[in-house]
Amino acid sequence: MQINGIHHVTAIAGPARRNLDFYGRVLGLRMVKKTVNFDDPGTYHFYYGDAAGAPGTILTFFPWEHAAPGRLGVGETQETVFRVPAGAIGYWAHRFVEQAVPHDVPVKRFGETVLAFRDPDGMRLSIVGVPGIEAEPAWTGTEVPVEHAIRGFHGVSLLVADAAPTGAILSDVFGFREIGREDTLIRYRAEGAPLGNVVDLRIAGGFLPARQGAGSVHHIAFRAADDAAQEEMVRRLAENHGIRTTEQRDRNYFRSVYFREPGHVLFEIATDVPGFALDEPAESLGQALKLPPGLERERARIEAVLPALA
Ligand code: ZN
Repeated sequence: MQINGIHHVTAIAGPARRNLDFYGRVLGLRMVKKTVNFDDPGTYHFYYGDAAGAPGTILTFFPWEHAAPGRLGVGETQETVFRVPAGAIGYWAHRFVEQAVPHDVPVKRFGETVLAFRDPDGMRLSIVGVPGIEAEPAWTGTEVPVEHAIRGFHGVSLLVADAAPTGAILSDVFGFREIGREDTLIRYRAEGAPLGNVVDLRIAGGFLPARQGAGSVHHIAFRAADDAAQEEMVRRLAENHGIRTTEQRDRNYFRSVYFREPGHVLFEIATDVPGFALDEPAESLGQALKLPPGLERERARIEAVLPALA
């Protein structure tokens, strides 16, 4: 059976220490992997998620100390949305005031309460209150009480000039279907996916193209259970949409292919396997700097150039 939904979201950040303070302390996510950008090993790659680092909870960052700010535009992710128990919205509104996090007043969107906020790089985030998820497991190793903790992704919204070609791929390849329209938003949902099952397409004709930088989402990864499921998605993209992906790349904790969807957003298809407990115990995920085998012999040099985190 096909497993659907978002696997992870990867974004660009400014200073690593500030990023860690915001996502680890203020939002209470677990650092599930501390590694480097395999293509630029002098830069961290942080993975935040739930206690286990489950697909659908993973937000990753490439923090560059001197990254120029991005400019939101058409052809990229407008907002990344977390889910919390419905009763937790008040806690978060209060926490954002207390922690001086820029935020808006809560609004209703598709009948759900949405609280939008920004991270220190200006990245657009929000939390949605979802009824009935109080009993879902959450990371408890932070100052955020477990009853209010983030329970993975609700979804993302993408800014596109024309929804139809992007919507066709969401439906045909990733198991989503259109479930409603509100203002300039078209909502797609992946039925049966517990996490990261919403993609909103926001139709934005007059926007300038995006300029990626700090605060920008770099790409969205969708789940494939394994290599065979990924191959089937690659085949559908080619045969039904005329889109070719990259060759498969080994990201150590999952295996990935990438393609630019017709609305210009960079999409990835990432396998659920092997997961983050591949190279360290589940109890101590994210504590030690992990390097892929090919970079291990350069560890001393890499550790010397990475910025201090404390
Ligand atoms: Zn990725």
